[in-house]
Amino acid sequence: MKVPLLDLKVQYARIRDEIDQAVKGVCESQQFILGPVVAQLEKEIAGYCGSAYAVGVSSGTDALLISLMACGIGNGDLVVTTPFTFFATVGSIFRVGATPLFVDIDEKTYNMDQRILGEMLDRLPAERRRRVKAIVPVHLFGQCADMSPILEIAGKYGLAVIEDAAQALGAEYRFPSGETMRAGAMGQMGCFSFFPSKNLGAFGDAGMVTTHDEELASKLNLLRVHGARTKYYHDLMGGNFRLDAIQAAVLQVKLRYLDQWTAGRRRNAAIYRRFFEEKGLKEVGLPFEDTPRHIYNQFVIRLPYDRDGLKTFLNDQGIGCEIYYPVPMHMQPCFSMLGHRPEDFPVALEASDSTLALPIYPELEENQLMYVVDKIAEFYASKKTSKKSS
Ligand SMILES: *Cc1c(COP(=O)(O)O)cnc(C)c1O
Repeated sequence: MKVPLLDLKVQYARIRDEIDQAVKGVCESQQFILGPVVAQLEKEIAGYCGSAYAVGVSSGTDALLISLMACGIGNGDLVVTTPFTFFATVGSIFRVGATPLFVDIDEKTYNMDQRILGEMLDRLPAERRRRVKAIVPVHLFGQCADMSPILEIAGKYGLAVIEDAAQALGAEYRFPSGETMRAGAMGQMGCFSFFPSKNLGAFGDAGMVTTHDEELASKLNLLRVHGARTKYYHDLMGGNFRLDAIQAAVLQVKLRYLDQWTAGRRRNAAIYRRFFEEKGLKEVGLPFEDTPRHIYNQFVIRLPYDRDGLKTFLNDQGIGCEIYYPVPMHMQPCFSMLGHRPEDFPVALEASDSTLALPIYPELEENQLMYVVDKIAEFYASKKTSKKSS
């Protein structure tokens, strides 16, 4: 049996007519950059997230970059984030001239540990603390970071909060007050990616920034067109961060299915949990849900030992699986000037050694999920017998 990590062909096959029609509409209009289709999508995404504004941009990476630019973050500034994330979170901080200040993750959720964040900022010498300008929490794998304390800490130190919500469109967080909010609507800005493998994927690169702040929204709108309010008159130093209309047209069609797809991912997560339980695979750590709506961009399990052996074994059995992420950001060669040691962020380090993402996309059949769990059970059963016999 084949169980790919993701199969976008099945998704496309089911909505082909609608998508083709929408793309054709853009071709007929010959208006490819920004324009009315992009504006409509922006309205829909803002509404979906519960934000006042949304600004379409060229990718999730550019969403992060332009958000940092809109906050005026640059040379000499420090930006707090986690070392357990996709490269773009940290790369963008460097690209505006700032330096990342890492905070280790919570071992259950893999998101920024708010206790460590609070302690780190409290302990920072005053002159270094003055350089800290923003916090970039990452809603990793589709579950919101613990935003209530993060926002409180940001408030205490006057920091902007830029959510890296690239994996979390539609994920929900519940505040202690009982109020529920969606990813991207909690901080000053929320950054989304529509990279094809995200829960809402374009037919190429695309991204979006959400915000409640009218001033930030208009700044983002300027920055994405080289900072020019009127063509060839540049108020700000921006760049080309524009979203194109073909991507927006595809995304508009797909957005109508997103809740259904999220329900499918959540259903598959529940089925996995049942199968793991039935197999008695207690040593496998399953995703921990501490928010009302985890959207499962990834279903990441934690293995007791030999994660790499399991990955090879599953791949040999026709099962797609991937390591997110094998090298935490504080250990990336390109960030070596930060001078970190592996053990500086032990939880992130451990997660990078022991976690594995399994197929979770909505179109998976129950027997495919069963096959994945069966094979994991087979792998660990063979390990136990070989241990006994040796
Ligand atoms: C995908 C992703 C990004 C970058 O998005 P692109 O659209 O690929 O540029 C940033 N942060 C996280 C956490 C991501 O998963």
